[in-house]
Parts: sequence; C-alpha cells; structure tokens
Amino acid sequence: MTNKIRVRYAPSPTGLLHIGNARTALFNYLFARHHGGDFVIRIEDTDRKRHVEDGERSQLENLAWLGMDWDESPVNPGAFGPYRQSERLEIYQSYIDRLLEAGLAYKSYVTEEELAAQRERQEAAGEPPRYINEFLGMSDAEKAAYIAEREAAGIEPTVRLAVKEDQIYKWSDLVKGEIEFEGGNIGGDWVIQKRDGYPTYNFAVVIDDHLMEISHVIRGDDHIANTPKQLMVYEALGWEAPLFGHMTLIINSETGKKLSKRDTNTLQFIEDYRKKGYLPEAVFNFIALLGWNPGGEEEIFSQAELIQLFDEARLSKSPAAFDQKKLDWMSNEYFKKADLETLVDLTQPFLEAAGRWTDKAADMVALYQPQLTAAEDIVPLTDLFFADFPSLSEEAAAVLAGETVPVVLSAFRQKLADLSEEAFQVENISPLIKEVQKETGVKGKNLFMPIRVAVSGEMHGPDLSNTIFLLGKEKALAHLDAALEQH
Ligand code: GLU
Repeated sequence: MTNKIRVRYAPSPTGLLHIGNARTALFNYLFARHHGGDFVIRIEDTDRKRHVEDGERSQLENLAWLGMDWDESPVNPGAFGPYRQSERLEIYQSYIDRLLEAGLAYKSYVTEEELAAQRERQEAAGEPPRYINEFLGMSDAEKAAYIAEREAAGIEPTVRLAVKEDQIYKWSDLVKGEIEFEGGNIGGDWVIQKRDGYPTYNFAVVIDDHLMEISHVIRGDDHIANTPKQLMVYEALGWEAPLFGHMTLIINSETGKKLSKRDTNTLQFIEDYRKKGYLPEAVFNFIALLGWNPGGEEEIFSQAELIQLFDEARLSKSPAAFDQKKLDWMSNEYFKKADLETLVDLTQPFLEAAGRWTDKAADMVALYQPQLTAAEDIVPLTDLFFADFPSLSEEAAAVLAGETVPVVLSAFRQKLADLSEEAFQVENISPLIKEVQKETGVKGKNLFMPIRVAVSGEMHGPDLSNTIFLLGKEKALAHLDAALEQH
C-alpha cells in the first residue's frame, strides 16, 4: 500500500442527502484537501430492497451544490473502478471463493425461519441474539447428508465468515481513542454473502477500501460495531486495515435527542436548504462546525480557510448539536456579505414565481439584503410593495395614536407631494424629514416612527428613504393618507 492519503465517502443511495451524511462527506473532503490526498466517492448499492432510483444522482448533485469536488466517482472513474458496488460483484466473488477454499468461510444452509426461531428462543431466555453454528456436533457424514438434503430442497445458502471467538479486535480510533471488541461478542459467524449472491456491507466495504487503497475511514459512530467485523475480514485476507475515525452523533438541539428523520420541524436534507435558496457556502460552513472547530471564538470560515485549518485531532468526542437557529444566523451573515448580483440571481426564481419580478427587483433585494436568511424570504419581505397594506401590530397602532402624529404626517405628506417627478429620488427624501423636524419641532422617535409605520406598517425594517422611493410617490402618499385617516 502506498502512503498516499485516500479517503472515501460511501453513501448507500437510499434517499436524499441527509445532513449527517453530508457531514461525513464534508469531513472526508476537508481531510483529503488539507493533506493533499484523494477524495473518492463510492456508491454502496448492494441492498437492493432499499435502492432508490436517482439516489446516486441526488447525492452527487447535492455534494456539488455544497461546493465539494471529488477525484474519483462513478461519473469520473479513476484507476480503482468500478465505483458502484453493484458493478463489482465478480470482484467480491473471487474473495469469497478464496475464503471458502481456505476454510475461513463456509456455506450456511440454515433458513430464515430457523434463524427467526433461534432468535426467539434466545430472546425468551434473555440471551443476546447470535447464530449458532448449524454444523455443531455433526460428523462429516452427517454434514454431507445435511448439505445434500438442503441443496436438493433448493435452499440457497449464504456464506458465513468463521469467527475466532477468543480473539480481540482493537483499533486506535482517530476520534474516540482505543476501542476493542471480543470476537465472541459480535453475534457468531456472520454472513458475508447473501442468498441473492450479493455481498453484505461489512464484507464489500473491506474489499473496496483495500483495493481502492483507502488510508483512513472516517464515518459516523453508528458504524463502530461494524468495525470489528471488518477487521476480521482484513485479518482473514491478510491485509493491513486502514485507520478508522468515528465521528460523534448529531443531536437535535430542540429535542436533545439524536437527529432523526422523524423530526419533521427540522430541515435535514441538503435539498431542503437548496430549494429554499440558502447560500451553499453558509451551509458548508455550518456543517463543518458540527463536531469540529478550529478553536477560538470565530465561526465564519470560507471553504479555503476550513481546508487550511482542518485538523482531525480536533474532531469532537461529544455529540454535535444541530441548531437550526445557529444555521439561520450564519446564513444571514453570509447574505449580508454576499454581492448583489449573486443575491438577485438567487432570489429571481422566487420573485418570478410570486409574480414580483419587476425592473425594481434588484433595488428591492438590496433593500432587504440585511434581513435575508434564505432567498425565499424575499417574497414575504416585499409584501408591502405588492400586497395589501399590512395590518398593524398593537405596538405599531399605538405609534400612530401619538399626539404629534397628525402634524408630522401632514407636514411630511405635503413635502412629498410637492416633489416633482424628477426630484423624487432617494437622496431627496431624508432632507424632507429634516424639514419636518424644523417646521414642527418634533424630533427623534416621535418624528421617524410615525412616518415609518405609516409608510411600511412596520416598526423595524429597511432603510426608510429607500422604502419610500421603491414604493413610489403615489403609493407612499396613499399610505400616509390612510394613516392620517386612522388617527
Ligand atoms: N454505505 C455505508 C453508509 O451509508 C458506508 C459506511 C462506511 O463509511 O463504511 O452508512
């Protein structure tokens, strides 16, 4: 094996790209890029029951959207292909044959019904489920008769690895430290090839990681219990195992429990964020901090900075909290810094779908830029310009009830009405408010708030002059009239 760093992201194409898998991909990506290694994508599609049409395309598309690139995959194969497990069946078969010939694996004719009955008995006796070798206590002749009988009955065998029960399987985990399992505690001789001829995950993953020269396996800690099984295969084939690192669980900060696809209030698929018009850089930044940080208080990092700073020794041992509010805060930080052209492109489909794509669209996006968390937010934010005047909150209504309100609003209305078409420009609007101050002696909050509420219906919002300018003179005057009437 060469010493080159090669890591892989190996999704099973069973659905959309989940935030947990995206994190696995992203840490592998950062690790590879930081060390100048290769990042490989392999599709683990041997579970035919769970196969989802288009699952592979969706995975790759969303990884690309997040800003990751990869060196090898089914669509850009390198020297280690094929990169889909379903296209590697002959390769697995050759190693299964090798283990069968060496007596390190054997064909098992036990039926699913017998296995279920065995599990039931064990459960009733309070024992952990395990496969009991079906040949136990049989003489060679009995064994031959048993096999012949089952084959004649058309029972397809599985292939099981002969487990060394007394052996200790241990590794030094990059994240969790020393971990060990006893061979006797993994449920007995386990299946490496299913009845349909497909290898099991724990077998195929070893063949692939070895042949693809993977140096580090970085994945979720739900795979810890699989690692001893995989070490058994490395041992049986006489191969050196890669280094393993198991990242901690992601918990939902709302519930304190493991992030689950059943938490329907939490957006968990990268596709969800993409559809809502998040900036991929923000989502990338957010995911990179799920269970890792470079130290210090800073939280906003570009992809290049993350690649430079990435240090696997800082992968956290405690669970990572998925906090949607933090993501939205971070997203807003990225929106505030983004250039207008990007934002206009990103918001265009939403404005178009709402029938709000006008020649003032760019100005409107600029107006609301500081308030955006996702591009889709632009639609409710621009209601003022397209929908009925918003109904006032209690607080806002109280502003309009103020004593000096009529004099302020009438004076402002007059000055706005007096502006000629040409003079109706953003820069000429705030001087009008100053003039109202001079004329009426009202200043500060009592001056600005009634104008803001009258024009926009809101107490807080974007720049007042810009809002008035974008509303247009006619609409602004109509709003002021309505507010005066309400008083
Ligand atoms: N296909 C496995 C999964 O999606 C990959 C596990 C691994 O990285 O070994 O969980």
